[in-house]
Amino acid sequence: MASIHESTTLKISAMAKKLVASGQDIIDMGVGEPDFDTPRHIVEAGCNSIRRGETHYAPTAGIPELRRAVAEKLSKKNSLRATADDVIITPGAKMAVFAAVQALLQEGDECVLIGPSWVSYEPCVAFAGAKVAWAKVDGCFMPQDLADAINSRTRLIIVNSPSNPTGSVFDRKVLEEIRDLAVDNNISVISDEIYENIVYDHEHISIGSLNDMAERTVTINGFSKAYAMTGWRLGYLTGPKEVMKWVTRLLSHSVSQATTFVQRAGVAAIEGPQDEINSMVAEFRARRDVLVSGLRELGIPCNMPGGAFYVFPDVSGHGGGDAFTDRLLKEALIAATPGSAFGPGGVNYVRLSYATSQNRIKQALQRIEKMLA
Ligand code: PMP
Repeated sequence: MASIHESTTLKISAMAKKLVASGQDIIDMGVGEPDFDTPRHIVEAGCNSIRRGETHYAPTAGIPELRRAVAEKLSKKNSLRATADDVIITPGAKMAVFAAVQALLQEGDECVLIGPSWVSYEPCVAFAGAKVAWAKVDGCFMPQDLADAINSRTRLIIVNSPSNPTGSVFDRKVLEEIRDLAVDNNISVISDEIYENIVYDHEHISIGSLNDMAERTVTINGFSKAYAMTGWRLGYLTGPKEVMKWVTRLLSHSVSQATTFVQRAGVAAIEGPQDEINSMVAEFRARRDVLVSGLRELGIPCNMPGGAFYVFPDVSGHGGGDAFTDRLLKEALIAATPGSAFGPGGVNYVRLSYATSQNRIKQALQRIEKMLA
């Protein structure tokens, strides 16, 4: 346990909240959650479920209605052949990632992470007694020489498109390259698709829908980002029956199940109107454009992300990610996450979340300009 570090993003978010509480005007760009409210009809479904008395244990794998709704969504939207029996509901996608990694890896195995990757993957791999092999990425954060990261101990590749922290979205060609390597080397894939709805001019493709991938892919998703439901803790996964068996066993002896009435809210989220997602994505796109062009005008190189709600500018010209993040907080009162939190490939970068208003983003850009002057 002592070798596994605390989540940097949660630490920074707690620090920012503390500074705000002490009266400092902090612009919080460290956050990993939408700044929108959960849509009303979802809230109502959760409240009505509590009022109906649905406050008791439910099956470990989830209530049948939600498993059915998720299976239908995965079949229609993601072209995955999932039935309700193949779906497991979890308290948050993070638990789905954790459980799937424990099911797929054992001591001495290796897991490939592609470039700067979400903070919790490496600790999940470490909890399983396995090791991470970092694959390189190019300037657009696309995999580069992926085969170099693979050896006889490699059991798993984690794909996260759209990506946290880089915002990159893998197209079909990139996913097919990953598929070919996975098939040739008998490697499993976890596809974390939590940002699937937040894409700009890109198509989200589930790698599990490609030929020969159904039997080796665990697909993970959740409600936190698409429906602004971070605090409800609701996610899900689907994959090969054997893996789902181990995941169910792990859940049954740890968290038991996702909260019963929260699962009812999940049914309403999937089956209800989806228009609030579209307006949320339109607002995120406008913010992304303001932030990327603002950073570029300040001479900070910044890739245009195709999805999620993060930018990942290169601050190697300003002392690297750790030093820049430190200055941002102390001199500009902006909370951000150093790229090093996402693995060795991130040291030259800083992650800025644009889950904050356009006004605040413009203010942040002014503060950065002043800081650099
Ligand atoms: N995967 C990625 C890539 C994420 O960014 C997050 C949330 N920060 C999660 C999984 C976990 O989401 P949840 O709130 O559903 O646990």
